[in-house]
Formats: sequence, C-alpha cells, structure tokens
Amino acid sequence: MIWQKTVSQTHRFTGVGLHGGVPVSVSIFPAPANHGLRFVRTDLPHRPTLKAHFSQVVDTVRATTLGEGEATLGTVEHLLSALWGLGVDNALIHVDGPEVPIMDGSAAPFAERLAQSGLQSLPWPRAYLLIQRPVELREGDQWMRATPGQPRLTYAIDFPHPLIRRQRFTVDLTSDSFRREIAPARTFGFLKEVEYLRSRGLALGGSLDNALVLDDTGLLNPEGLRFPEEFVRHKILDAVGDLALLGLPLLGRLEVSRGSHALHQRFLTTLLRQESAWRLWIPPVHNREPRRSWSPAPLWAGSPA
Ligand SMILES: [Zn+2]
Repeated sequence: MIWQKTVSQTHRFTGVGLHGGVPVSVSIFPAPANHGLRFVRTDLPHRPTLKAHFSQVVDTVRATTLGEGEATLGTVEHLLSALWGLGVDNALIHVDGPEVPIMDGSAAPFAERLAQSGLQSLPWPRAYLLIQRPVELREGDQWMRATPGQPRLTYAIDFPHPLIRRQRFTVDLTSDSFRREIAPARTFGFLKEVEYLRSRGLALGGSLDNALVLDDTGLLNPEGLRFPEEFVRHKILDAVGDLALLGLPLLGRLEVSRGSHALHQRFLTTLLRQESAWRLWIPPVHNREPRRSWSPAPLWAGSPA
C-alpha cells in the first residue's frame, strides 16, 4: 500500500468496558494524512487527546492503557488492532469513558464494519519501518524477534491447560488475512483468575459474551471455539494492536514466544534504540493520484522484501 488511509465515514460503536463494566461509546472519524491514530476522552474537562504511541503507554497489566497527565484510556489494543490490521493510518477516535468497549472480546465487530464501508486513500505516501538486520528481546522464557523478510507474524504460546497447551500460528500481514483469520479471535481468561480480578474490582464487564473463560479442564462458553487455536490467534490480535503504537507499519518477519503486552511494548523500545537494524522506507510513487477506493489488496503490496 503506497498511500496513507483513513476511514471512509464516521463509525459509532457502543458497549461496556471490560474492567469497569461501564457503558461507553466510541466514534471513529476520518482524519488527514500524518495525523496518526488519536483518541479524545470526550467525557473529561478539556477533552484530552491521547496519541496511539508507545511513549504514551502507562500500563500493560491485563490490557494496554494510554495516559497523559490525569487522563487514561484502557483496553485500546483490540480497536487499534482492527484499525492497524486493515491498514488505517489515520483516524480521530472519540471515547466517552475510561475504556474502549470490549464488544465480543475480539476485533471482528470493529473490523467488519470498517471493512464493509471501505477505506479512503489520502494524498500522502505511507512510510514503513524496514527491518535490515535481526533484533531480539529475550526475557526469561519469553522472547520477541524481528528479522528481514516477508511481513509475517508467528506467535507461540504454552499454557498448562488441556484446551491450549502449545499453540503456534503464523499469519501474513495482509488486511484480508487479518480480517479472516485474526480479527474474530476472542480474548480469554481462567475462571480462577476472573474470581480474583472481580474481588479487586476488575473484569466487572467481563462475561461469556465477551471472553473465552476456561475452568480447570474445559471451556465454559456454550458456543465453543471459533478456531481450534483461537487462543494463539488472539495473541496475534493483541500484538498487531500493540505494534500499531509504533505509528509506522513494520516491514519484516516477526516472531513472538509467550509474549505479553509488556513484552510487545519493551520490544518496540529495543527495536527503535537499535538504529542500524532498520531504516525508514517510502514506496516509490509512480502515480501521483492516490486511488480513491479501497480494494482488499495485501497490506504490504509494493514491499521491497
Ligand atoms: Zn486481547
């Protein structure tokens, strides 16, 4: 994709926040080139703006929270994943509460609506972060690595639960495969953990309608799984949302093992510090007029890799 993109119209979503359980609505407006993805807390005095950038991350426990001064916004990663996974570079996002609504626990409600109405090209080329040599962050048995190559993300998890155990999944980072293979994967939690979180005033909006909940041996959700490896696919969904906080699409091969929001964040910092490992790359512009309509072409079409 050569040109930057934004949403083609305003989209409004309503739901409850996962942790606070409070009703909240989100409106996504088109934005000009080089605006990036920005949130506005419309319920707070002075309507503070929070940029979707890793420098604004203030908490990564359970979800990714952005903050600036007193203002915070929680659980941004599934909405950011939908936007980034579809190739939306620029949008202004109004939220009238402390958390983005959890919807069904996946990114599909956002992604489906955004994709159905299409995206709008903007008259400014996209800049990419092109990986030139390997960068790895290892913390105990967790690691994350970027290497030069086709844009593809592989994730591996290992949970001592009969429904999960070792799961590994690879996806090509195109808008089509994101929408089909990753966006519908729901967040998951363990019943024991849910009870503990509730006792601490968290996960109050959580239910079987917006999360996969596991007891010691099986799954409590009567409808079952959407994919046999829905758990690891959701980890990819989270990683895509966290990678959106780089502000530039990454051109390279990514691998993560037993990752977390915190690891994804620390990896971005590590990557940017190793300046010889990457360079900014702007696709050559052969045609001065950006295409007006969006087609589900690969997100990375035109890549030099
Ligand atoms: Zn998640």
